[in-house]
Amino acid sequence: MGAVRVTALPPDVSSALPVLDERLRGTRFVSLAPRSVLNSPAQTGMDFWSLNPYVGCEFGCTYCYARYAHRYVVERAHDAGKLDDAEFADFRGAHGWEAFEKRIFVKEGILAALDRDLQKFFRTAIRPYGDTAGTIVIGTATDPYQPAERRFKLTRAVLERLARYEGLSIGIITKSPLVARDADAFRRIAERNDLEILVSLVTVDVDLIRAFEVRSPRPAVRLRAVAKLSAAGLNVGMIVAPVLPGLTDDRRHLEALFQAAREAGARFIYASPLRLYPAIRDRFLPVLEAHSPALAARYRVAYEKQGAAPRAYARALTRRVQALQQKFGFPINRGMQDRYEKRLPPIQGELFAATRPAPP
Ligand code: SF4
Repeated sequence: MGAVRVTALPPDVSSALPVLDERLRGTRFVSLAPRSVLNSPAQTGMDFWSLNPYVGCEFGCTYCYARYAHRYVVERAHDAGKLDDAEFADFRGAHGWEAFEKRIFVKEGILAALDRDLQKFFRTAIRPYGDTAGTIVIGTATDPYQPAERRFKLTRAVLERLARYEGLSIGIITKSPLVARDADAFRRIAERNDLEILVSLVTVDVDLIRAFEVRSPRPAVRLRAVAKLSAAGLNVGMIVAPVLPGLTDDRRHLEALFQAAREAGARFIYASPLRLYPAIRDRFLPVLEAHSPALAARYRVAYEKQGAAPRAYARALTRRVQALQQKFGFPINRGMQDRYEKRLPPIQGELFAATRPAPP
């Protein structure tokens, strides 16, 4: 954990950054000087290297599993004496999840840390004869194009640095149309590296988006970003994660999403079902309760003993997604579970029988 410096927004920042001011009211940026920014597979248990320029995310999706990472940073800072008790309370929020959306850690000095980490990456992740063994994925825990990026431009700086290299395999995941700003950097990266841009969208139903994602960009603007990046010749696709059992997993929702992705020029789609880990439950379940008490009761039972979706449900969902991939002309068998989630906790039990997708 690096040094933590608390930086309140100056009073006049709203006039300088009008777009941020609309979304960041009450938000405080916190400077975090990391010793390291590139997480190795050994550190995360995932089959790829990961990088997140920010900790915390103002989009505030109720199902976001990255809240635990923010809590970890805050607790480490408190334990190390970098936050006093009053600051600790502020940085956790009344229920322990609010600060994830309101107290954003900004990894200042990210390039120095990245340069150091890349040396380690090239020592350990490249097999002999030059074939790349390690994919680097940006935005696995928080959104690299969340509103803070307009001001701090850390993601842009990382892309500029990566564009100096060749032979890398790079993925980037976001819900924000701001990703289209960096089309030029992506083009330079793609000239000499394998690049995959994933725009995240769980449904085209605006009411559901507003209910469960709070401050994320509207579906239409995300789809426009896909269209812009695709028109720029970039390898852009969509990630449907999480699919929400009983809410967005029916054929009508998924077909509308696949159709929209096709029309926007997406080149692939990944999808994976909701994981409801303990750190998410307090944020997500009350919202679901307000939306559908009956469904919330079923979620409480279904996810009582594990965070992952039931195996049978996940398999049925994969079959449905693959059928839609075929119908809409996307590559098949490239689900998130195969690509970016190989070492997640094991799936247990067979639940959600009533909401399990019927065979397509
Ligand atoms: S955009 Fe991504 S990182 Fe941000 S709150 Fe939503 S799911 Fe979490």
